[in-house]
Amino acid sequence: MPESIEDFHARALAAQEAAGGHLPLPEDGYTTWAAFPFDGDLTVKALAPLADEEAAREGDNPAECHCAPSTPASPDWPVRWRDEHWLVKQAPPSGSPAIFVLEPLEHLDMHELSRDRAAEYGVLSVALVQAIEALPSVGRCHIGRWGDGGAHGHVWFIARPTRMPQLRGTFNTLWDDLLPPIPQDVWREHAGAVIAHLVATVGGEGVDD
Ligand SMILES: [Zn+2]
Repeated sequence: MPESIEDFHARALAAQEAAGGHLPLPEDGYTTWAAFPFDGDLTVKALAPLADEEAAREGDNPAECHCAPSTPASPDWPVRWRDEHWLVKQAPPSGSPAIFVLEPLEHLDMHELSRDRAAEYGVLSVALVQAIEALPSVGRCHIGRWGDGGAHGHVWFIARPTRMPQLRGTFNTLWDDLLPPIPQDVWREHAGAVIAHLVATVGGEGVDD
């Protein structure tokens, strides 16, 4: 039988208590990996009580979502490409060579996509991976769907710099906040290359800001 969240949480609390108040760090786990970005003594935060409900997200009310006609576009997240059903935004300059976000034009979360939209999502994801991995400083394009901050479906495409083995794997998203942001001209150049690839492979149109 599937476990309730009350049982899940109680089991975690019991493990925390048995360990003396803090869950132990994994002995041979990620804190020993070359990719783990931090040094020094670490303590796992104490688990918070179970919340009464899921936290609210931006766009839970579609009328207040960033896709609503009344919401002004964010200058920090320029739309770089669009077609009939999808758009691609570029994240502000950060430690990663390139971060793009793919989202449907319609106010839909991932689980609400129709079969047609889901099929297009697959094609666009592959094209974005190809475009981002073609950048000379990129070793891999990671794909992430969290969805905990915004109700409007959005998928992250995050470039991992090449030949920097410390940045491999999931901790690339933490290194992204630690490395110096890429310069503005590089940011724009990478957008141009990625969008040109998208237009050439899947159509749609690039968007100039
Ligand atoms: Zn929306």
